[in-house]
Amino acid sequence: MARKRFKKPFKGGPNSIIVAVLVVVGVLAFATWLVDYQRDIKVLSYSSFMERVEQGDIKSIRVSDQNVRGRFNNGALFETVVANTPKNWDSFKKAGIDVTVETSSGSPSPWLFFPVIAILAMMFIFWPLIRQTRGGSSGGGGGGPGGIFSMGKSRAKMFLPSTIKENFDSVAGAVEAKEELEDVVDFLKNPQKYKKFGAKIPRGVLLVGEPGNGKTLLAKAVAGEANCPFFSISGSDFIEVFVGVGASRVRDLFAQARKHAPSIIFIDEIDAVGRHRGSGMGGGHDEREQTLNQLLTEMDGFQTGDTSVIVMAATNRADVLDKALLRPGRFDRRVDVPYPDLKSREHILKVHAKNVKMDPAVDLKKVARGTPGFSGADLANLINEAAIQASKKDQQAVTLENFEEARDRVLLGKELKTIVLSEKEREITSFHESGHALVRLLLPEDTDPLHKVTIIPRGRALGVTHSLPEKEKFTQTKEEMLASIKAALGGRIAEEIVFNKMTTGAASDFQAATNIARAMVCKHGMAESLGTAVFGQSQTDFAYSQATAEKIDAEVKRILDESYVHAKQLLNDNRDKLDTLAKELLEKETMYAREIYELLGITPREDHKFTQ
Ligand code: ADP
Ligand code: ZN
Repeated sequence: MARKRFKKPFKGGPNSIIVAVLVVVGVLAFATWLVDYQRDIKVLSYSSFMERVEQGDIKSIRVSDQNVRGRFNNGALFETVVANTPKNWDSFKKAGIDVTVETSSGSPSPWLFFPVIAILAMMFIFWPLIRQTRGGSSGGGGGGPGGIFSMGKSRAKMFLPSTIKENFDSVAGAVEAKEELEDVVDFLKNPQKYKKFGAKIPRGVLLVGEPGNGKTLLAKAVAGEANCPFFSISGSDFIEVFVGVGASRVRDLFAQARKHAPSIIFIDEIDAVGRHRGSGMGGGHDEREQTLNQLLTEMDGFQTGDTSVIVMAATNRADVLDKALLRPGRFDRRVDVPYPDLKSREHILKVHAKNVKMDPAVDLKKVARGTPGFSGADLANLINEAAIQASKKDQQAVTLENFEEARDRVLLGKELKTIVLSEKEREITSFHESGHALVRLLLPEDTDPLHKVTIIPRGRALGVTHSLPEKEKFTQTKEEMLASIKAALGGRIAEEIVFNKMTTGAASDFQAATNIARAMVCKHGMAESLGTAVFGQSQTDFAYSQATAEKIDAEVKRILDESYVHAKQLLNDNRDKLDTLAKELLEKETMYAREIYELLGITPREDHKFTQ
């Protein structure tokens, strides 16, 4: 869900905190009272006790060995020690005192048990109340409106197919994500088909993207398309202070989902449980590990059993996830859910503007143009804000001015963390990415073909140029590796050529280029001066001499320098293409290889099969 970063530290909500505090205060008060009460028991000396006996002040006593506890006529309690002699018994009798003798001499005073019993009793009385308020805050204990059930034990919410309104049409843009989820839908619709033909069955899908870009929406849309129940829970709901609770919630959730198979389990914020183990974050971390282990166990159980349950999980921190989660049979499929590009933004705006009356002058395409870096949730919010502005002013329809105001509000509300690029930054990014792409296109070597280029920020990377390997490649030629180095350097070179300066955005590109060069020299024996010997990537891997290390460094530098010169030559010679591509990319934000070939009038390589 969007805006999830603002989270109450206590999952039970304020109610459960209040109840918990009340219980603690109650027990403490009672215990204090009890201690005071006990202290009020007057300890009498033998002589003063006998005096009170004679005065007829004492109503009753309980005798156990020589210990005596009793009550005065006025109700107050006392205790004393009295020798068990016939004379004493006589005087008790004479005074008309009610005497009880306790035979079980060794038994401790029942008063000792009283606080324990009292606390247990209070726990017993208050427990249902505590549980209820905790469960209640996670969304309607019991049957919610329209068949949304809060699963008592697992805390997940279950949506029946009849209540799921979302389908792929509700998700605007996100073309690639929807495409990738197509066969998940297909599997849920006809699980038998997959089992019969032994086709590879999808198991876990990891949806990766910044908050508000529609991960939850997509997961639910899959359920809507497949017409199957949807179980939804947040990773943080598994984590409890009590060890073992998380694991049992996982077990319970999967049991429910299996019962309703085919079904979907959606775990939002999987990183709350799925952080790699041993990243010790202090307390509660045993609990988290247990929960994670249980999750892994349940997912492995799929492979043997023949249940048709798909687990979808969302995160914006795929990098911190435990590697075990990403192994085959678990979350082995990753679907990126990036910030929407220009076209997608327009679609999203249209979806959300459906029931809003717009002034004819409002052009949603223009609004989309003015909102780079907005997430789907931001755009939904934008429409909503604009409508609020309009109704406040008693307007008949939402105008462009309303949108202007709404945009400022949404921008203000956006977290600083989110990257909203300035115009200048977008332009630089556009040239940078065009540089990568163009070098790749212009190289005659058999490199990985270009797939798409985008300037939509993803996480902390400003833009991405993707190339798709045609087939799984286990060997790379020297030319391919050199081409990859040149393409990696292309971004930085483009910035240099156009703006005559370098930004910090190219640091990881440079690292990538260096890594390839190092691998060429050390692993593949592609360096002329060093022959075909294999060296470790660093001196600590393999012990080699200082002289060899220097030779390796020199060789790596030579490869990088030569690649740099060649790539710069290429881009300088094709400056017009670079400008054209960068300008178009700035406009469209995402471009696929086919569009780029067309735009630049380059004939695609024969082996290039388009996926878009
Ligand atoms: P996430 O799970 O990635 O944080 P959500 O799925 O909760 O994001 O999205 C929040 C809201 O933003 C959705 O309920 C929807 O209103 C809107 N939204 C996000 N992406 C889209 C989209 N592609 N099309 C339509 N609405 C979207
Ligand atoms: Zn780059």
